[in-house]
Amino acid sequence: MGKPTGFLDYPRELPLVRSPAERIADWEEFHGHPQDALLQQQGARCMDCGVPFCHTGAVLENMASGCPINNLIPEWNDLVYRGLWREAYERLAKTNNFPEFTGRVCPAPCEGSCVLGITEPPVTIKTIECAIIDRAFEEGWIVPEPPAVRTGKKVAIVGSGPAGLACADQLNRAGHWVTVFERADRVGGLLMYGIPNMKLDKHVVQRRVDLMRAEGVAFVTNCEVGKNYPVDKLRADFDAIVLCGGATKPNDFFAKTEGRNLRGIHFAMEFLHANTKSLLDSRHQDGQFISAKDKDVVVIGGGDTGTDCVGTALRHGCKSVLQLEIVPRPPLTRAPDNPWPQWPKVYKLDYGQEEAQARFGADPRQYAIQTTRFVGDASGHVQEIHTVRVEWVKDNGRTMPRPIPGTEQVFAAQLVLFALGFSGPESHLLDQLGIERDLRSNAKAEYGRFMTNVEGIFAAGDMRRGQSLVVWAINEGRAAARECDRWLMGSTDLP
Ligand SMILES: Cc1cc2nc3c(=O)[nH]c(=O)nc-3n(C[C@H](O)[C@H](O)[C@H](O)COP(=O)(O)OP(=O)(O)OC[C@H]3O[C@@H](n4cnc5c(N)ncnc54)[C@H](O)[C@@H]3O)c2cc1C
Ligand code: SF4
Repeated sequence: MGKPTGFLDYPRELPLVRSPAERIADWEEFHGHPQDALLQQQGARCMDCGVPFCHTGAVLENMASGCPINNLIPEWNDLVYRGLWREAYERLAKTNNFPEFTGRVCPAPCEGSCVLGITEPPVTIKTIECAIIDRAFEEGWIVPEPPAVRTGKKVAIVGSGPAGLACADQLNRAGHWVTVFERADRVGGLLMYGIPNMKLDKHVVQRRVDLMRAEGVAFVTNCEVGKNYPVDKLRADFDAIVLCGGATKPNDFFAKTEGRNLRGIHFAMEFLHANTKSLLDSRHQDGQFISAKDKDVVVIGGGDTGTDCVGTALRHGCKSVLQLEIVPRPPLTRAPDNPWPQWPKVYKLDYGQEEAQARFGADPRQYAIQTTRFVGDASGHVQEIHTVRVEWVKDNGRTMPRPIPGTEQVFAAQLVLFALGFSGPESHLLDQLGIERDLRSNAKAEYGRFMTNVEGIFAAGDMRRGQSLVVWAINEGRAAARECDRWLMGSTDLP
């Protein structure tokens, strides 16, 4: 611990980000790039407390508390404070295959459980993580390092999101020949086609993929296993298989709601995927995306996906944007039943809401509001969304939303986006391989072992866990690689 009084000497300070008004005019990343002096001060705030909850990765009340990949946070905070950047990178690389992704997109459960956070704003852990890895790339410290020895074993990984990439990276280090199959035209899963460019620049994703390719990982794109690549061939050609296909079946909560089939109503992923693809293919010149330009946009659902829809609609030049949440607005500070070190369920403006506030003068979110129907024009295109306010009441032990009479409202909407999460993995691949499911329809494989009911077939990431976070996908990809290596070789040195 470099500076015992750092947490008393320096307040929490984040790097300046581009102003919301400026950044909605383009698709470049909004993250600020901090100066060394600021980072060293922020690293000095780390107290190196006796029990660093920040790297525990425990699950409390179904939410992560501390870093799920057990990053050695106090160690690299101290190294950054002392200006030992290369050593900080080496520590970080021990636990995290892709800090350039988590440093940009992770909600940072580490900061929610930082001991300093009990009385003061927590250490800026995520910003420091991002700065370490960005610097490592800039300095040229990261070069391809193919394994010295190959085992001759071949492993197929289905899906190239963070779980598949982390698994491939680890298995390749162990000397296996790894092939990653991806049905999209680009590698990266939701890192590429879910999270928009302003939050995670696609060059950052591609840079890592290129590095892995140079280290010997093979990527096969435009290839959907179970559709245009038979599962029998996969089983015959590879010694082991790891399924990392994500949980991409959208939740159609409004399937039975009047007006659901009007044109102009889409799942968030249709909107986000097409937007990024068109941006990367042609800077939007091909017109192959759902445009929000000059439209009243209503996003139903919160979370990262809802925020990404708001940010994307603003960059298209929408006329207005509204975000509807059925749950009540969270409190400004932790509620008594949400104590430290649990993930703090508090009200905050994420980047999309901050931008909407700058553009239209208010947070776009309306809370405790339920959609009752969609109304269209004569051509069958949505024009209005009808809603009612709700109160949350206990009903047979469960808390349920109850409509409040007299609170009905109508909002203009020519584009409606559902950001309501996912109901689980798609079926066809799992069915063809005979993989058992858990109660939530995810691939059934015990955490820690990751093997499915079919010998030699493992599952990891959202496909096993249900929709989650990038950092959990990396955790599972790494751990599934370890178990796969153990199964192939009889023992393993992978962490
Ligand atoms: C819009 C959006 C924004 C998000 N933002 C954040 C965020 O800011 N921070 C965060 O931590 N988490 C975020 N998440 C969640 C996070 O992206 C996921 O938890 C994570 O990507 C899951 O990783 P994965 O590798 O398990 O699956 P995925 O990233 O979903 O990747 C699965 C891949 O498998 C491919 N695939 C599926 N079936 C087949 C097949 N049969 N053959 C070949 N390929 C196949 C799919 O095309 C896909 O590319 C977000 C999610 C969404 C939808
Ligand atoms: S990966 Fe996430 S939880 Fe872990 S240190 Fe980085 S920001 Fe924190």
